[in-house]
Amino acid sequence: MAVCQNCNRQWSYKQIFRRSFKKEKKCPYCGYTNFISSKSAQRISWFGLIIPLIWIAFPLFEVPYIYSLILSITIIVLNILLMPFMTELCKREVSPK
Ligand SMILES: [Zn+2]
Repeated sequence: MAVCQNCNRQWSYKQIFRRSFKKEKKCPYCGYTNFISSKSAQRISWFGLIIPLIWIAFPLFEVPYIYSLILSITIIVLNILLMPFMTELCKREVSPK
């Protein structure tokens, strides 16, 4: 789980979750602004790549669209729920590639 890069205190699931959708992640203890590390940003975006693959692969095997839809929604929900565990913080902002 995420650890503040300034005061080294670990954030709780709820604390990370609430900051998941913000670019700048302010520490609840010391107020220091942390940024998401490139490694964990990559890990999170990897999840997003699975969804188009499902929509390409499933029709090839004649799997009904409803399964693609259910699986896509499950992955999105899982991604949101697991995001706090995949989040690592760093001191500097990562420039998007
Ligand atoms: Zn802190």
